[in-house]
Amino acid sequence: MSAWRDLGEGAWVRQSRVVAMNSVVVAHDGWAVVVDPGVLPSELTEIAMQVAERAPRFEQVILALTHPHWDHVLGAPWFPAAHVVGHVGLAETLQDDAAKIAHEAEHEAAAAGEQYPSAFQPFAPTHAVRGTAGVAIGPIELIAHDTPGHSASHLAFWLPGARVLVAGDLLSDIEIPWLDAAPWVYRRTLTQLHWVLEQEDVRVMVPGHGSPAMGRVDAYRRLLRDLDYLLALEAGIATQRERGATLEEAQTALAVMDYLGKDDPHYSTRAIHSGNVAQAWETSDPTTV
Ligand SMILES: [Zn+2]
Repeated sequence: MSAWRDLGEGAWVRQSRVVAMNSVVVAHDGWAVVVDPGVLPSELTEIAMQVAERAPRFEQVILALTHPHWDHVLGAPWFPAAHVVGHVGLAETLQDDAAKIAHEAEHEAAAAGEQYPSAFQPFAPTHAVRGTAGVAIGPIELIAHDTPGHSASHLAFWLPGARVLVAGDLLSDIEIPWLDAAPWVYRRTLTQLHWVLEQEDVRVMVPGHGSPAMGRVDAYRRLLRDLDYLLALEAGIATQRERGATLEEAQTALAVMDYLGKDDPHYSTRAIHSGNVAQAWETSDPTTV
């Protein structure tokens, strides 16, 4: 069975065996955009073949990267001469985290009996964007949306040609929000995506991990669920602050919260939740309660 799922209108998605990460290919007229190719070397080769069939010329390939976390950034060597679209903060983070990314990648590849041809090398996008930015290269158009909360250098890509929204590590059906900033930053991003869902004709929304949402109603439900989780988390933190609890006590109290993937034996989100409690605690102001 092919690992590819045909999304129609020139778009395909492929899910990795590692952390159920999605790579998206959209092809048009001898050009292709590939978003977050990954994760294992054999999978990257398969993705490069899919791209080469549709866009045989290296310089007619656009590599779009949602954020600088290890599982999303390993594909660059498979697409030499590609135009690279990423956040203005991408290059610096890749530089800082290069050893960590290489270590994680090699660890996962070894577990799968594979090996990367060379160690991860940091790189810089040819098209570094911030805010809401339209990028047109050849016949391919994409709109990047700054979407911090999980990563400060996070972009979601709207591909109007195929009517596909590639959300990066947001709006998953197997993962709760994974915070790297105060919860309100993430909520602000969900508001931005809400705006995208209202303004654009979103046919498919592909998250970084899990299953695509078919249609905007499915995407909307995930957005509302994530918003609900964040509000409950923030309310819980405020209550614990009022009680004069320590972080440890807050962790115990908020461990009873109900959330997506809590009891999933294959993809448990308990560690993410516990990290979120710590993040929300550190970024909440004890003096305002
Ligand atoms: Zn991530």
